[in-house]
Amino acid sequence: MWAFFMGFAAVIIVMLWLLQIVFIKSYYNAMKTNQIVKVADSIIDEYGKSDFDDTVMKYTQKNNMFVNVMDMQGNDLYSMTEFGGGKGPDHNEKRPPMEFEDIKSRLLASESGKVHFSTGQHDTDRQMLIYGAFIGSGSNRKILYIVSPLDPIDSTAGILKTQLICVTVIVLLLAVALSIIFSGRLAKPINRITVTAGKLAQGNYDVKFESGSYTEIDKLASTLNYATSELSKTEELRRELIANVSHDLRTPLTMVKAYAEMIRDISGDNSVKRQAHVKVIIDEADRLSGLVSDILSLSKIQSGTAQYHMETFDLTKTVREIAQRFNFLVERDKYDIALDCEENLFVSADEMRVEQVIYNLIGNSVNYTGEDKRVFIKLFKKDAKARFEVTDTGKGIAADKIDSIWERYYRDKEAHQRPIVGSGLGLSIVKNILTAHNADFGVESEPGKGSTFWFELETAKR
Ligand code: ADP
Repeated sequence: MWAFFMGFAAVIIVMLWLLQIVFIKSYYNAMKTNQIVKVADSIIDEYGKSDFDDTVMKYTQKNNMFVNVMDMQGNDLYSMTEFGGGKGPDHNEKRPPMEFEDIKSRLLASESGKVHFSTGQHDTDRQMLIYGAFIGSGSNRKILYIVSPLDPIDSTAGILKTQLICVTVIVLLLAVALSIIFSGRLAKPINRITVTAGKLAQGNYDVKFESGSYTEIDKLASTLNYATSELSKTEELRRELIANVSHDLRTPLTMVKAYAEMIRDISGDNSVKRQAHVKVIIDEADRLSGLVSDILSLSKIQSGTAQYHMETFDLTKTVREIAQRFNFLVERDKYDIALDCEENLFVSADEMRVEQVIYNLIGNSVNYTGEDKRVFIKLFKKDAKARFEVTDTGKGIAADKIDSIWERYYRDKEAHQRPIVGSGLGLSIVKNILTAHNADFGVESEPGKGSTFWFELETAKR
């Protein structure tokens, strides 16, 4: 920042020095020459016209010059100084000395019939800019001769120089001061954020990025704070995942081991007992593989590697088939699963995934329904959508928990009605799949009375 400011100031100062001190003389000469050439052109245009006198007078006064027109022998035809026109000794005193032969020979030698040059010291101590041009042609040819003093600008340049020295010092000091102020304002908050980010990188999620003194830093700080809070959530989830998964894996594994040992040591020869023990082992193994496939399918869906194969299928048929899978509960545990489906409701979706959703929702209702073991499944057309609902008569979900149940690994321990170990992933999978299908979904629950989970999919033509 400091280098940038100093560089910027230096460039400007160097430019000022070059223009005002180093090149000022040549610049002034060039400007003067340019001016005299322009004036001469106008005078040549005006020559012979009635207001020639006035025009020339104006030019000579304005530009401080002497204008003379002579014939080829050097006789004055016209003469004008800044003090006015005239001839004679009085006038001749006021006009600068003429070098007629010099200008004539230069003019004759030139191709364009125009010359200009600056002379060295004249009698007066001044440098002169001299311009000569032919007016007219043939025997009527005359010479226009203009002289303009080149004012000495050394003293002016001297004044400028002292001024510039002051300006240089002030500008450099200002540049240093400004660069210190600005770099402080810009860099300090960035440095603070860098330090905080370093702490974050070391795994400290309690850091807070402080906002700075300008909008961009404020935005950066708030974005980083948001990122930190998301990171810490992920970290929390990771810890929870390890705790949950290890817990969920350990219980069935212990059971599997215990029952296997029991078969080896006790029930090996008793076929009835052995059957019972083997069944526990199989059930626990099923739970294990269910848990593992839940974890896999959620991570697949969330990492975006899951591919959706959209096809049109009969949702009614799917719901019926899945409901049938729960029939063993009806027979074995006297569940009452009521099915009320409108026929031929076609939707366009990934059938496998929708099956997963329906299976998870019915599974939850079965798990959490009340003592009467009743579950109601409904499928009907609502506007242009097919609406699936599954209702249980369980404890319901408290209003403050209703949003959390869709989160990964959320499990309300008290809500478990059956000794079935859930993974806490079911509803999270449901949510991810339905979101990917742009489907509306939700839950209505009244604590003590039960819950209804629902989703709606656009109906499609067969
Ligand atoms: P879990 O494997 O624990 O069932 P889910 O993601 O399927 O995991 O559900 C998350 C939590 O939502 C459950 O632990 C439970 O507290 C609550 N929940 C889900 N379905 C129901 C329901 N039908 N009735 C009451 N609570 C439910």
